[in-house]
Amino acid sequence: CGIVGYVGAQHAAPLLVEGLSRLEYRGYDSAGIAVLTSGKPRVVRTVGRVRDLEAALPKRMAGTVGIGHTRWATHGPASEENAHPHQSEDGRILVVHNGILDNAAALRERLSADGITLTSDTDTEVLAHLIARSDATTLEDKVIDALRGVTGTYAIGVLSADHPDRVVVARNGSPLVLGIGDREMFIASDVSALVRHTSQVVHLDDGELATVTSSGFQTFTADTASVTKTPETIEMSA
Ligand code: GLU
Repeated sequence: CGIVGYVGAQHAAPLLVEGLSRLEYRGYDSAGIAVLTSGKPRVVRTVGRVRDLEAALPKRMAGTVGIGHTRWATHGPASEENAHPHQSEDGRILVVHNGILDNAAALRERLSADGITLTSDTDTEVLAHLIARSDATTLEDKVIDALRGVTGTYAIGVLSADHPDRVVVARNGSPLVLGIGDREMFIASDVSALVRHTSQVVHLDDGELATVTSSGFQTFTADTASVTKTPETIEMSA
């Protein structure tokens, strides 16, 4: 339902929670965030409100890169196991997803047959496993590989412990916006989560992906090295 992400110099966790609270009006049943703390993934997920998530966060959740999600369940009930972010078996790939993957059942069956233990009922979880299993070198190519195998709608945010300087995002049928800050970047499914932080945004189009780092962003498609996008100026609010 709602996606947020952050890469910069500030602590990500409070910014992610604040962004999620700005997406609450869209409705949701559970929420979660993941940050990299000294390169180590930490995930907190809860059923219920964003303030319940906030209450469940450890006192110190350091880390300047992270992703967050509010879920509106389509595959599996509202539960902690089904809340996003979802992870690969080794926990090093983390994924948040809005939308519906049409071939999730077949993919779940194939992954199980290959010995992967699925820990949720969701369509989203397959993406974490597919990305982790790709033998491509870069995170971007792993994500492209994984997305080649899925059909349906998605906006995704991907965090990797092996690429701690970035978040990779992709869009097909579900909105995704990048917010450009001063040596920091924001990601959201809706500009209302960004307006407090920046007036410069880039809307991804269907079929586009982006790499987001503290120094900026790069947009591309599965078959083109790069796509040039011109930032739009939106009105900021307090
Ligand atoms: N289909 C995913 C799920 O059921 C994502 C739902 C959403 O857009 O929040 O977990």
